[in-house]
Amino acid sequence: MSAPHVDFLIVGQGLAGSILALNLQQRGKSVLVIDNDHSGCASQVAAGLINPVTGHRLNLTDNFEQYWPVANGFYQSLAKTTGRSVHRAVTQYRRIKHPGQVTYLDKRLQQAEYQSLLSKHSDSPFLASEPHSCIQVHQTSAVDTPTLLSQTKTILVDQGAYSVTKLNYHDLSVTSQGITVQGVQASTIIFCEGYQAIENPWLENLPFKLAKGEILDIEVSAPLPGMLSWGSWLLPSADNSASARLGSNYDWYDLSLTPTLEIAQKLLTSLQQHSGLQAKITAHQTGIRPTTRQRRPFIGAIRSLQNAYCFNGFGSKGCLTIPYYANLLCEHLTTGKPLPEELTEWL
Ligand SMILES: Cc1cc2nc3c(=O)[nH]c(=O)nc-3n(C[C@H](O)[C@H](O)[C@H](O)COP(=O)(O)OP(=O)(O)OC[C@H]3O[C@@H](n4cnc5c(N)ncnc54)[C@H](O)[C@@H]3O)c2cc1C
Repeated sequence: MSAPHVDFLIVGQGLAGSILALNLQQRGKSVLVIDNDHSGCASQVAAGLINPVTGHRLNLTDNFEQYWPVANGFYQSLAKTTGRSVHRAVTQYRRIKHPGQVTYLDKRLQQAEYQSLLSKHSDSPFLASEPHSCIQVHQTSAVDTPTLLSQTKTILVDQGAYSVTKLNYHDLSVTSQGITVQGVQASTIIFCEGYQAIENPWLENLPFKLAKGEILDIEVSAPLPGMLSWGSWLLPSADNSASARLGSNYDWYDLSLTPTLEIAQKLLTSLQQHSGLQAKITAHQTGIRPTTRQRRPFIGAIRSLQNAYCFNGFGSKGCLTIPYYANLLCEHLTTGKPLPEELTEWL
């Protein structure tokens, strides 16, 4: 009996593999997604924030206007399919940390592209003792990434298009029909392993600059008025209860998945300083972001392996950027439209 055949074998079911698989299916392609049970999966721990303005100079997130409509459209269409939205609007208060920031704010408020995103500074709903200490950042939202992964997995399992398997790279062979691996034949394989791509022999030269992040689930004493950001952030849970997520840090040296007490304490101290809130930790998670030196993803055909593609390098903003780049790759795969060179140059 011959091995089952699919158009695309997708390795990894984080945000990248999930969004790509659904997009390819919408275009009438058959897929099989394999994942090693979300081991070390950044998407499982991410806060899912989509933030249009970042940094102490209140800069517009790079290419926000390009990414946002595609991301928003994707999450809306997923909600129609599943009957449950994983994407919600968030009221964000940004703490003014020094007077210079008010100067940046005044400048930004005169620029057309910021007018729907920022409000004049206002009182903090967190620290009554500090009037005019917050800016409201509009169009902030958050994706419930673990639910997105479980919804996608359910859709794929129901279609027989999912397998809990770890890909062993040395089992892969190129055939006249494409790729054969672990009993499956595919015309094309697409690698979406997040940071674990560093183990992939065909991707070992990619200039990743991986960054570990730690994130806390906490309980505070009363329901929160919204999200607060100050370099770190406090994101209330979707049901407006007194539970929230608190994060996160960037560590480019310790890439173990072990949580550290020191980071948890730093986050709690900083929360207390910027909001006045005391919190109790209910969970502490870590993940490795697949960040890249050029701050651009790696997307396209892999030169050293026939019929193989890479879809990776989504760093710290996957919820905003992955739907946009999944569209680009799917168009390339289905219509031959070339990918921008800046995405393919390292492959
Ligand atoms: C603490 C933290 C907070 C974050 N907060 C945000 C945020 O607020 N907003 C935001 O947009 N982004 C955030 N991110 C970034 C976000 O997590 C990433 O952009 C995104 O999840 C990357 O998705 P991915 O699918 O590329 O990788 P991953 O999520 O790592 O998924 C890769 C998958 O591949 C599987 N896999 C790997 N190797 C194999 C193999 N050999 N065989 C089978 N399966 C394999 C893994 O098990 C995993 O399931 C955060 C990240 C961290 C760590």
